[in-house]
Amino acid sequence: MLLFTPGPTPVPLNVRNAMAEETMHHRTPEFEAIFEKTRSHLFKLFKTDEVVMIASSGTGAMEAAVINLCHKTLLNVDSGKFGERFGKIAKAHGLGSVDVKNEWDTPVDVDAVVEMVKNNSDIDAIAVQISESAGGLRHPVEELAAAVKAINPNIMIIADGITAVGVEKIDVTNIDCLIAGSQKALMLPPGLAILGLSNGAIEKIGKGKGYYLNLATEIKKQRENTTAWTAATTLTIGLLEILETIERDGGLDKLYVDTALRAKAVCSSLEALGLHIYPKTPAKSMTTIDDVDANAIRKILKDDYQVNVAGGQDHLKGKIFRINQMGLIPAYEMAWVVNAVELALDKLGRRTYDGSANKIFNEIYCKREA
Ligand SMILES: *Cc1c(COP(=O)(O)O)cnc(C)c1O
Repeated sequence: MLLFTPGPTPVPLNVRNAMAEETMHHRTPEFEAIFEKTRSHLFKLFKTDEVVMIASSGTGAMEAAVINLCHKTLLNVDSGKFGERFGKIAKAHGLGSVDVKNEWDTPVDVDAVVEMVKNNSDIDAIAVQISESAGGLRHPVEELAAAVKAINPNIMIIADGITAVGVEKIDVTNIDCLIAGSQKALMLPPGLAILGLSNGAIEKIGKGKGYYLNLATEIKKQRENTTAWTAATTLTIGLLEILETIERDGGLDKLYVDTALRAKAVCSSLEALGLHIYPKTPAKSMTTIDDVDANAIRKILKDDYQVNVAGGQDHLKGKIFRINQMGLIPAYEMAWVVNAVELALDKLGRRTYDGSANKIFNEIYCKREA
């Protein structure tokens, strides 16, 4: 079965093998050496002033960011399941919370955020998804961050990059906290989250908030190549292996070019079949199609063609399907996925199969013109 859900993503064989070694003790020079190497790779990936790894799923890092970087009111960009989550975290901690809510296919309006910031001096942090995985939507985060910083540079910009870090180059100039999770573009099992932090964020964190998720405690320890609590040793070993694999495969720039090209080739081939791309501004992390037959297409893909793609949640349940674009994906696998979608449409009596999807995908991907 080909796993083509936008998280979890398949873990490459060499990474699984690296994690199959005997469990290592975390307070040893051997593990500290691995930790140090992993950190230096992460600095290249995040391009932020500091990076911190924590043993949790992505939501743990979202919570760490909110409690350490927001002291009054969080302005939360909500165009989907994950945007909604930031607001719930703020409320759970008794922080003020205001939302900019939109339909799941609609990116945030930067001017609307600017207006809200101007009218509410309690807002001291903004949380936004770079890629909102609920609908495969790309928010204009860099533009939003620049506009907010121009009004008040002390407002913290928390960018959830869980389906964006490792997908595309992110301009972190105005971002204070950039979050990644292991089971998405980093091609690892779930359980490790990473935060990239600006110097401004470190200043605001000060002595930190919370206990397990206190970022001040972690920053201090991780600068010494160790962790405050037991490190996720096995996942850290896997992380180093995947970051070295990406480097061997041509580096981050090649990964970004391949991902963008593959996403474009898939969009074009599916549109040629008469399918519709759901988000108004699609993220490169996944291709999201809204279709009355979304469930039937998913079922045929799985039962007849061994392709597992994700559906939708909440009001989009049964209305969309999402094809992963994150990670090192072999071209022959993706060519099969678009071909399988075309075969499914034939089975549903919507369109006679003629191999168009494959032809268009291959033409675009093989020409390599991003
Ligand atoms: C997967 C994901 C998360 C984190 O979810 P966890 O299940 O806690 O790992 C957060 N934001 C986005 C955009 C995601 O895709």
